[in-house]
Formats: sequence, C-alpha cells, structure tokens
Amino acid sequence: MLLRKQLEFVFERSTIHQSAGRDVDLELKAREILYAVGAARLAGLVRVEWNPRLKTAAGRADSREKLISLNPRLSDYGEIEIDRTLRHELAHLVAQFRGGRRRILPHGLEWRSACLDLGIGDEVRCHNLPFPISVHAPRFFYKCPNCAREFPRVRRIKRAVACLTCCRAHNGGEFDARFRLKRVG
Ligand SMILES: [Zn+2]
Ligand SMILES: [Zn+2]
Repeated sequence: MLLRKQLEFVFERSTIHQSAGRDVDLELKAREILYAVGAARLAGLVRVEWNPRLKTAAGRADSREKLISLNPRLSDYGEIEIDRTLRHELAHLVAQFRGGRRRILPHGLEWRSACLDLGIGDEVRCHNLPFPISVHAPRFFYKCPNCAREFPRVRRIKRAVACLTCCRAHNGGEFDARFRLKRVG
C-alpha cells in the first residue's frame, strides 16, 4: 500500500503570537480583503487582535471600534479556520459600514451579502468554535528529527508526514523521509 505523503507546517504562531494582542499580519490581510471589496475607509481603520477572554466564541466584531477579536484557541484549528473566522467577522464590519447608521440584524441580509463579497457565501456558522474545546486538545505529539520542532496533534498521524520547514530548506520543498515526523511522549 502506498502511503500518502504529506508535508506539515508547525503552527508556531499558536504558541508565540496568538496568545494576546494585535496581529499585524492579520491586520494587513484584513486591509487587503477590505480594499478588494471597495471598503477603503474601513480598511484604513480596521484592527485585528487575539483576545484570550473569548471563551467559546471564535471571534467578535466591534463595528464602532472597527476591531476584530479572535479566540487564540482558533490556532488549534489551523490557518483555514482562522481565515474563515476573520472573513466572517469582517463581513459584520462591512455590513454595518454599508448600512451606515441604520440598525441591521447581526446575521441578516446585509451580512450575508458581505459574506458573498468576501468569498464565504456559504457561511452559515455562528461565532462558536466548531467543537467543544476539550475534544480538540492535542493528545499526540510529534517531532521533526532534524529541527526538533514539535507538532502537537489532536489525532494520530496515519500518513507519512514530514516537516515542511526542513523539506523546504533541504529538499526543495519535496517530501523527504529524513524529515518524517516521529512520535514522542
Ligand atoms: Zn457573526
Ligand atoms: Zn524540521
């Protein structure tokens, strides 16, 4: 049987940058997204922060402050989930921005239309994290034999997974068995 090969990036951000405070990278990204949908003024004002006080909510949008707050636990779910939550919350800002002083429903027509513009037309979620947090606490720990980075995982890795950082540095980004992750602990 051929084992599917896969490269993984360690989510270092989760332990270093995503604990609390503003995230300059995500702010830049938010600005780009907002410019792209023609909300230039909003793009100039928006701020994005990680807020550990959020418990079950994945994110929050404060239209008055133009502030997006994200739950640091989101990083356990990976970049795709972070991106989606960012867009979900940006849709709230865009909807209120377009609505002006009008009072609009949080997940009403204006929000839905903003979601479409932001590339998440299928968004149905509420703000809660997709699963109870305890289910997603990592229980399996892997390590790159080369750089010793740790890869905490919720599930056991069944594929041949190698460290993307090392594969990039030493093998042109191709899978290299020398950097295959090893279970530890
Ligand atoms: Zn929402
Ligand atoms: Zn490595």
